Amino acid sequence: MTRTLSPPAPPVLRLESLTRRYGPGLVAVDDISLSLAQGQILALLGPSGCGKTTLLRLIAGFEVPDQGDLYLAHRGAAGVRTLPPEDRDVGVVFQDYALFPHLTVAQNIAFGLEARRRRGRLSAAAVQEQTAEALALVGLAGLDRRFPHQLSGGQQQRVALARALAPRPRLILMDEPFSNLDTQVRVYLRQEVRSILHQVQAAGIFVTHDQEEALAMADQLAVMRQGRLEQWGSPETVYRDPISRFTAEFLTQANFLPAELGAAGWQTDIGCLPQDLITWVGLEPARGGSRAEAMIRQEDLDLVADHQGALTVRDRQFLGREYRYYLTTASGQGLYARLPVDRSLTIGDRVKPLVVPQQVRMYPLGHSSTHQVVAEGKAQ
Ligand code: ADP
Ligand code: MG
Repeated sequence: MTRTLSPPAPPVLRLESLTRRYGPGLVAVDDISLSLAQGQILALLGPSGCGKTTLLRLIAGFEVPDQGDLYLAHRGAAGVRTLPPEDRDVGVVFQDYALFPHLTVAQNIAFGLEARRRRGRLSAAAVQEQTAEALALVGLAGLDRRFPHQLSGGQQQRVALARALAPRPRLILMDEPFSNLDTQVRVYLRQEVRSILHQVQAAGIFVTHDQEEALAMADQLAVMRQGRLEQWGSPETVYRDPISRFTAEFLTQANFLPAELGAAGWQTDIGCLPQDLITWVGLEPARGGSRAEAMIRQEDLDLVADHQGALTVRDRQFLGREYRYYLTTASGQGLYARLPVDRSLTIGDRVKPLVVPQQVRMYPLGHSSTHQVVAEGKAQ
């Protein structure tokens, strides 16, 4: 039996070598290429100043790239490099809500639709229908006559989302939309935005500098660094196999331990790791005497009480579902480990570290980015 297979749908968005410079020394977006399938959410993670907002502004049409082009499936095969924002059919949600204070909720949501009506693209009935639909989608039915100041922050951001969704775009861009909200509201809205976008089959790019939020939102995850895409893939892949120390540090907050390759394997402060079981991330093969840094994620470092152990417990934080331990090696190197709460260790205890070698990744020396991470307030 033969079956006709329909060709795969083209990506909703495709970026090709997109570049935006602000003056000779500053490449805010540097040669970025990626694509996004229909209905998928791409979480774009990176420290402050790495070019996330500039990239969104290029896609939305508020900026024109110096080089490269972008393609939107619903705009045909031609690039949209210079197409104005209103002709791109892309919804945008900003960090600061950007609602009109003198307009009601319904008027705010209808704002973009009204502009289309004036240009003869939409009937008055369609404006009403799409406004009501967007209101219901974000769970604000009944609040349509309120003004923004009569709403909570979370509700205001829902209005902003409804305004972006009302024209039924194929693509929604969200620039740190929850960063002004309380943790509880943020966590709730993450799930809600994911559900809504999946429900209407819109693709989304969700920008954040919060690794937990990025993982929570992502169907696909992209890590950005100094204008460039450092890594891009499924959240599981990027988390499990960061291609650089930067990604590992930023996304997983892993421990890094100096290591040197000896006859028995990689020698570290917490013992010897067998070379053949450990993945080396980098180009050059390791030889005897090679120096590197071993990445051990906090959740991959297991501890057992042992008077002869290589680590000393220095601090313990109760995080509800787990304890987070701060430990030091004999040479003073600090490490973090996360253990279930029923595995309580006492401050001052000596402990033996247990590591599954297959979970360790070895990185070349000299690619640290701790300063950027600390500046963002994300270092633990
Ligand atoms: P992010 O959103 O990741 O914090 P931005 O895209 O806002 O980063 O900024 C990237 C870089 O470009 C930063 O160094 C920023 O100072 C610079 N930049 C952004 N917008 C402008 C502009 N209009 N003029 C000059 N420099 C800019
Ligand atoms: Mg920004």
